[in-house]
Amino acid sequence: MTGSAAWQTQCCVVGGGPAGTVLALLLARRGVRVTLLEMHKDFDREFRGDTIHPSTMEILDQLGLADKLLEIPHTKVSGPTLQFANGTITPFDLGRLNTRFPYILMVPQSRFLEFITAEAGKYPEFQLVMHANVTQLIEEQGVVRGVRYATADGTQELRAGLVVGADGRFSQVRRLAGFEPAKTSPPMDVLWFRLPKLPGEPQISSGAFGAIGGGRIFVLLERNDYWQGGFVFPKGMYQELRTRGVDVVRRQIGEIAPRFAEHAEALTDWSQLTLLSVESSRCPLWHKPGLVLIGDAAHVMSPVGGVGINYAIQDAVVAANVLTAPLKSGSVSDANLAEVQRQREWPTRVIQWFQAFMQTKVIASALQLQQARNIPWQLRLLSKIPVLRDLPPRMIAFGPKRVRLEN
Ligand SMILES: Cc1cc2nc3c(=O)[nH]c(=O)nc-3n(C[C@H](O)[C@H](O)[C@H](O)COP(=O)(O)OP(=O)(O)OC[C@H]3O[C@@H](n4cnc5c(N)ncnc54)[C@H](O)[C@@H]3O)c2cc1C
Repeated sequence: MTGSAAWQTQCCVVGGGPAGTVLALLLARRGVRVTLLEMHKDFDREFRGDTIHPSTMEILDQLGLADKLLEIPHTKVSGPTLQFANGTITPFDLGRLNTRFPYILMVPQSRFLEFITAEAGKYPEFQLVMHANVTQLIEEQGVVRGVRYATADGTQELRAGLVVGADGRFSQVRRLAGFEPAKTSPPMDVLWFRLPKLPGEPQISSGAFGAIGGGRIFVLLERNDYWQGGFVFPKGMYQELRTRGVDVVRRQIGEIAPRFAEHAEALTDWSQLTLLSVESSRCPLWHKPGLVLIGDAAHVMSPVGGVGINYAIQDAVVAANVLTAPLKSGSVSDANLAEVQRQREWPTRVIQWFQAFMQTKVIASALQLQQARNIPWQLRLLSKIPVLRDLPPRMIAFGPKRVRLEN
């Protein structure tokens, strides 16, 4: 091992994604010394979703940061407009929700993470180390006491009162701690890509568009100067698609949504597409003495409803609510860590159940449809009965429980 003598911090957060950055900000503003370790050299990462949900906006509002975030160029999505053979329908609308932020804000995730870490940097208790790849846990008598991480200058050691694994779906901390998530395999995968806007093209009024046909689902999200496209296909077909080439994706988009055939002409190379291998998983246990997992490290969400970022941030808020006082007094107990899991596991179970229901009852059958069909009567009914119509947007916006920052 090279490098300086071991550092000391009250909390070491591994992973500068939505969960880790928000937790670090919340702890630092409450006077907890926190070190955030991120393996990449910057936040300019591959596309991982750009959605900020009403729940996160309300939390940022509590911090006095929502209006500042809204100064970053963004778009707003209030609900999907679905195209059928006989017309379009918007089955639900976040615009009806009782909140100051009745929409999903679309901000590039890199800008969001830069924004949060810049705010955290205003507190002397916050330290950010980029290009720091955590490779080992320091354990003494069964208690995690810190981490070792690789940098350009060699391996460093950081001792901490608590290690938080917020290092995402392929979490190294989770693996090192010996936790194994229970996985389910949703029936689809998604390709994400950008499509250009044509000169003078109008916005999609609800901010999102979807169409079904040929055993595929095509989705589009409104962005300022491009469209964010998604192409949903049955799991297990990626290699076949890849072999057949990008032309097939382009042609199928044109068939499902002729209005966007011209836009799809821009897809000429496979490198323009990012694969989201859809998975859903949850760790039975999120903690051990000296360590807790949050965000995707504890539970990977299916993309149904686009709630992964939102849930990761809600975990961070609950972790800050529960752990600030014990961290400050230097006595984080196993009961404190169990309390984080207790508060966050059941909302995760509920939303994963809801996602599984949507996947088996709606998406799997949509992926079997070869022809565009008329608007199903169930969807018309759903859009007319207020209590049913308002349930999906509430679940997407807040989950089963509204999370608040406790001061
Ligand atoms: C293609 C794609 C599209 C998606 N679209 C959406 C969407 O539209 N809406 C949505 O809500 N969710 C979406 N998701 C899911 C979303 O990205 C995650 O749910 C969310 O980012 C989880 O946040 P997190 O902070 O827990 O983990 P992550 O965002 O994965 O962050 C983990 C961080 O840890 C770092 N890290 C990993 N290992 C180490 C290590 N050993 N040492 C130090 N640092 C490490 C990583 O570099 C990363 O910065 C998408 C995911 C993918 C892959």
